[in-house]
Amino acid sequence: MRLPIDPESVKGFLAPDEGAALYEHAAQAAGVGPCLEIGSYCGRSTLYIGTACRDTGNVLFAVDHHQGSEEHQPGEAYHDPALYDAASGRMDSFREFRRTLARADLEAHVIPIVARSALAARHWPVTCGFVFIDGGHSPAAVRADYEGWAGRIAPGGVLAIHDLFPDPRDGGQAPWTVYQEALASGRYEELTVVQTLGFLRRLG
Ligand code: MG
Repeated sequence: MRLPIDPESVKGFLAPDEGAALYEHAAQAAGVGPCLEIGSYCGRSTLYIGTACRDTGNVLFAVDHHQGSEEHQPGEAYHDPALYDAASGRMDSFREFRRTLARADLEAHVIPIVARSALAARHWPVTCGFVFIDGGHSPAAVRADYEGWAGRIAPGGVLAIHDLFPDPRDGGQAPWTVYQEALASGRYEELTVVQTLGFLRRLG
């Protein structure tokens, strides 16, 4: 894996070994279908998955409304004043996201979709080889992302979910709950978990 820019130069909440695992699994999706991520923020995960797509001739759909998740809003724990647009009174990570794509020269491999996940999913026509869920972390948001996109993964494709915290003292439980449900559904086999990032393969 040779990334075009330093991932630490991109704002985000993804560890280097988690990013490397994203790259590896996204690269393997090339023969199965396009990649799709929910929750791009400033593009750190996009850098890893987009580079995998660059290297394998695949494309990445990057879905984010770019108005920040719950925890990014003013007064919340992960608020970044540099991403606050005073004119609109909203968070806006899209400008920074586009800057990342340009710096990394990935604009020919990544298709930004600036929309809420549920809206983008409603008439989604393409079966995916790799889906990465890292959007809002509320129970309703994680469930909507799972229900909107898990059914769009081809047999043999991979579902990745970020921010798995089996111990509630470490973080919110919504991604972990949905991950356990996916496993219990019998439709997936577990591939690996890297820190808080889990990978499931869709069974045929
Ligand atoms: Mg995350």
